[in-house]
Amino acid sequence: LIQLYLPLNMLGFVYREVKQGLVDMDSMFTLLREPQEVSDPPGAQPLPPGPGEVRFRDVRFGYRPDRAILKGLSFTVPPGRTLAIVGPTGAGKSTVSRLLFRFYDVSGGAVSVDGHDVRAVTQESLRAAIGVVPQDTVLFNDTIRYNIAYGRPDATQAEIEEAARLAQVHDFVLRLPDGYDTRVGERGLKLSGGEKQRVAIARTILKNPRILILDEATSALDTRTESEIQSALRGVSRGRTTLVIAHRLSTVVDADEIIVLAEGQVAERGSHAALLAAGGTYAAMWRRQSEAVAAAEAAAAADLAA
Ligand code: ADP
Repeated sequence: LIQLYLPLNMLGFVYREVKQGLVDMDSMFTLLREPQEVSDPPGAQPLPPGPGEVRFRDVRFGYRPDRAILKGLSFTVPPGRTLAIVGPTGAGKSTVSRLLFRFYDVSGGAVSVDGHDVRAVTQESLRAAIGVVPQDTVLFNDTIRYNIAYGRPDATQAEIEEAARLAQVHDFVLRLPDGYDTRVGERGLKLSGGEKQRVAIARTILKNPRILILDEATSALDTRTESEIQSALRGVSRGRTTLVIAHRLSTVVDADEIIVLAEGQVAERGSHAALLAAGGTYAAMWRRQSEAVAAAEAAAAADLAA
C-alpha cells in the first residue's frame, strides 16, 4: 500500500505543479497565442531582485527568417515608468511583449531586465517578475477568492481584499450573494467583461510583479466600463514598470513615453503632448480616434433623445 501511495502522492504533487504552470501559461496564451520555443541555458540563474528596468537594444526579430518584424528596435523603460506602444495592426506591438516574456529569442540585439539578458536567466524567474493583464480574462469555475488568489495560494484574506480594493472590485464582491465565496465562471455567476477584467487586475496586484504588460482590448468598451478599468489599471501600474500594448489609444495619454511602431522600427517617440504638437502619424491617429469617439457619442445622444 505504501509503495502505491508514495508514487501517487508524488504524482499529485507533480500534477498540481504542472497544472499551475499550464493554467498560468494558458492565460498568457490568451494574450500571446504562442507556443513555447525557448529553453533555459545550462546553469541559468534566477533573475535577481531589482527595480524593474526594461531595455530593448537594437532588437531584430522575425517569426520566419525571410520576414523581419522588428528591424532594430531600441527603447528603455526606467523603473516604475510607463511606455506605450502604438501602431497599425501587424506592426509588431504584441511581438514586443512576447519577446520580453521570452516566448521567442531575438535574432539580433538583446532584451534585458535590470541589466540581465532575458536569455541568461531562468524563464520561471523572468515570468514571475512580469504580470500580464490580458484583454480577455477567463475565470476559473471556482470562487472569487480563488480567482483573485490564483498563483498566490498563501495569500491571506486581508491581502486578497486589499488587492480587490486597489482593483476597484471589492465593493462589487461584497454585494454578491456569498461575497468572496461566490462561485463564478462558466458554471457559476457570469461576470461582465469589466468585472472580469478587474478580477484579473486584482490577481496581478496580488502577484506583485515588478513589470506589468497591459494588453489593451482591441474592441471598444462602453464609456463607464472603460473608465472603471482605466482607474483600476492606474492602481496596478503605480510604481511598476509598465508596457502598454495599445490597440486603441485610450490608455496611452498618461504614458511617460509613447513609441509609434511602423515597418519594424520606431517611427515617432515622445509624450502625448509632444507627439500631438509634432503633427505626425500619432497626431493623425489621435484625430481619427477622437472623431470616431465623438461620432459614437453623438449617435448615443441621438438615441437617447429619440
Ligand atoms: P500587432 O500587435 O502590432 O498587431 P503582432 O506583433 O501581433 O502585431 O504581429 C506582427 C506581425 O507578425 C504580423 O504581420 C503578424 O501576422 C506576424 N505574426 C504574429 N505572430 C506570428 C506567428 N506566430 N508566426 C508568424 N507570423 C506571426
